[in-house]
Parts: sequence; structure tokens; C-alpha cells
Amino acid sequence: MGKKYNRVLLKLSGEALLGEQGHGIDADILSTYAQEIKAVQEAGVEVSVVIGGGNIFRGVKGATQGMDRVQGDYMGMLATMINSMALQDALEQIEVQTRLMSAIRMEAIAEPYIRRRAVRHLEKGRVVIFGAGTGNPYFTTDTAGSLRAIEIEADVILKGTRVDGIFDSDPEKNKEAKKFDQITGDEVLKRRLSVMDLTAFTLCRENETPIIVFNMNKKGNLKRIVVDGEPVGTTVI
Ligand code: UDP
Repeated sequence: MGKKYNRVLLKLSGEALLGEQGHGIDADILSTYAQEIKAVQEAGVEVSVVIGGGNIFRGVKGATQGMDRVQGDYMGMLATMINSMALQDALEQIEVQTRLMSAIRMEAIAEPYIRRRAVRHLEKGRVVIFGAGTGNPYFTTDTAGSLRAIEIEADVILKGTRVDGIFDSDPEKNKEAKKFDQITGDEVLKRRLSVMDLTAFTLCRENETPIIVFNMNKKGNLKRIVVDGEPVGTTVI
């Protein structure tokens, strides 16, 4: 079966898992995400995933309340492990083979991240979830996503959001906001558009990894992009 991309990295935000809830993980959203991932994996695409932890804990937030920033960041990294384990479970419930690899060693629940092993898992058709961010404080899971995408030589990094792509202003605040179908990295910087934090964005640019920002909450979008090659979302080239 034809497909647009062979190997992708999907970045999901932790916050998206909240759904209508004030805290925690919405089971319906989780299972929808698992279904979307399964659809592309079944089409023969090698899929890796990085999921954030913002629904549980953010180091910056802890720091504003007086917590040591580094301590908070490690808590944030552990939060990503909770979301990663939840996603792993949701995928396994629908018979998708997965491996969870952690940037911080915790052998009882995840393999340590080793690039060559990650690539091998992907080649065998397993969905690989990268947990615990980069393993370092002062970074974000967007940066972890960019880093892993480059390391495993993913064709593209897909940033799943709750909006349709990159707009010239915030579409959740401005009804007139215009969406870009394609935009260059220079233009993103010039217009100060928020695609990812600058560390994550710069890593992608320097290594020529394209970024596609799209709405993960619209059923079938992931497959439309990855398998059918439809121009969904915004591509940063
Ligand atoms: N974090 C970190 N290093 C990393 C990735 C994440 O210290 O490489 C911490 C950081 O405190 C961050 C939290 O984990 O706030 C949760 O990740 P993030 O905010 O990226 O989650 P998202 O916004 O995608 O839900």
C-alpha cells in the first residue's frame, strides 16, 4: 500500500489528554489517539510518539510557586512517563505492539532509551513511545520530540494540537485568523509565530526535519497526512 511517509514522530501534548476534565487523563481521548495511531501503523508506517506531561506537572509552574526548578522539571519528566504508560496501555488494548523507552532509567516499567534499539523496534513495526522527555531539566517535550525525530531519522515531526495548523494570530482568540498551508522557518521566526519553543524549532531547522502542525482531534487527520499525503494542517519547510 502506498504511503507518504515511512517513519514519523508524533508529538502529543499532555494537556490535550485532559479533555473536559480539570486534571488527569480522559479515557476517551486516549483511546481515540490510540485508534488514530493504529490506523497509520497498520498502513505500514513506522510510528514513534512523544507525549507531554502538562496535564500533570510542569517544572516552570512549580518554580513560580517556589519549588526548585530542576526538581520540578524532573517531576514533569515523570509526568510524561505516566502519560506514556497510559498511551501504551491504550495501544495494547487494541492489539498494537509497543515499546516504551525512557530517557531516565526505570527498568521495571520501560526500556532505557538506546537509539539503535529504538530504530530496531520501529523496523519491526512496533510503536515506540519515548518517555521522560530528553532526561534533562530546562527542556520541553517538544525538544525531546525534535531530538528523537532527528536521531531516528524520522521523515517528519507531526505536532498534534487542538487547532487546524499555524495561523497568523491565535485562532482561539481571533475569528479572522488566517491559516497557512505551508510556511518557511524564516517566516515563522520573522512573524514570531508559536510552533514549538525555540530550542525545539531550531533543532528541526538545523537538521532539515519538516514539521507539520495539525488538529489531532479531527478523526482521520493523522492518516490523511501520513498515509494519503493530503495537505492537512500547516507544513513548516
Ligand atoms: N521536562 C523536562 N525536560 C524534558 C522534557 C520535559 O524538564 O526534556 C519537564 C518540564 O518541566 C515540562 C514537563 O516536563 O514542563 C512536561 O513537559 P511539557 O511541558 O513539554 O508537556 P506538554 O506541554 O507537551 O504537555
